[in-house]
Amino acid sequence: MIDIKITKTTCPKAKPDESELGFGKIFTDHMFIMEYDAGKGWHDARIVPFANFSIHPSSTVLHYGEEIFEGLKAYRIADGSVQLFRPIENVRRMNSSADRLCLPAIEEEDALKAITAFVKVEQDWVPHSEGASLYIRPFMFGNDPHLGVHTVQSAVFSIIASPSGSYYEEGLNPVKILIEDQDVRAVRGGTGYIKCGGNYAASTRAGHRAEQKGYSQVLWLDGVERKYIEEVGAMNVMFKINGEVITPALTGSILPGITRKSCIEVLKSKGYKVTERLISVDELKDAMANGSLEEAWGCGTAAVVSPIGMFMYKDVEYPVCGQRIGETTQMLYDTLTGIQYGKIKDPFGWTVKI
Ligand SMILES: *Cc1c(COP(=O)(O)O)cnc(C)c1O
Repeated sequence: MIDIKITKTTCPKAKPDESELGFGKIFTDHMFIMEYDAGKGWHDARIVPFANFSIHPSSTVLHYGEEIFEGLKAYRIADGSVQLFRPIENVRRMNSSADRLCLPAIEEEDALKAITAFVKVEQDWVPHSEGASLYIRPFMFGNDPHLGVHTVQSAVFSIIASPSGSYYEEGLNPVKILIEDQDVRAVRGGTGYIKCGGNYAASTRAGHRAEQKGYSQVLWLDGVERKYIEEVGAMNVMFKINGEVITPALTGSILPGITRKSCIEVLKSKGYKVTERLISVDELKDAMANGSLEEAWGCGTAAVVSPIGMFMYKDVEYPVCGQRIGETTQMLYDTLTGIQYGKIKDPFGWTVKI
């Protein structure tokens, strides 16, 4: 088990105005860091004042993109205490990401200990206002100081945190989604199933084009046939067709979202039929044309669920659910946020107190 040395800042920052948090712009007073070296393992686990990194100009991360990350939130509940939502799932996914990029794994108990110890130090930074939370960003990068391409001998694992406002300042407004038929995000055998920075680098262009056309995200199709639906932006996607919830199966190019998994478990516990399978864009188009598509939503940690009010495919717009939030989308939002903020009982054992 790692031993974490804590050095507190001597000049804590003033806490921000909670009405102006936004996302990922303000950072807390401290950060967690530990280093890995081959032969030595992970060492020097510490929580220190927030500061810049100093890395060698030939560091692996700068040249070959050896970087993975996670995203989870700490929530303030009514009694003032703080809790996390399924952090073990983030730890396991990070190790799966590390494995794909030949970065070193971290013992599950050590990674959990790092996250909880860090959040404990920063607990005053967990916002109090409705829908706000402390976004926690664990990340790891290869840090060898030479240019040869090989598995890394040195790595850094760090955790930073950012108090973030409600994703929905004006309520859960349905978003407009552009179905992307040019760029692809991932292919089977590649890195689509892990959370690595490279996936984001490759998806920026399509996201930018969509925004310029007035859409908030793209819907990705599979990288081989551009036929099967994969994800929406950096969220998983679900459809309710004739009362049944359908979500793309995890075929290797889709990120296995913790919100996706939680939605499936909540839906099944409420008696919904949920099917994980391939769903083609033609099937979606038919379901939109004949009215059997009842709801569509994206799901991920940042937004929880994001109702989709419109799809655009090959220059044709298809409105969804009267451009309002559907009852199943609303139920998932209420249930998941209810559990996260401790407003309703957690029958699944998903929350972890700090
Ligand atoms: C993080 C992420 C998701 C959502 O995962 P959660 O664990 O639910 O936050 C979905 N797709 C991509 C590409 C992601 O990076």
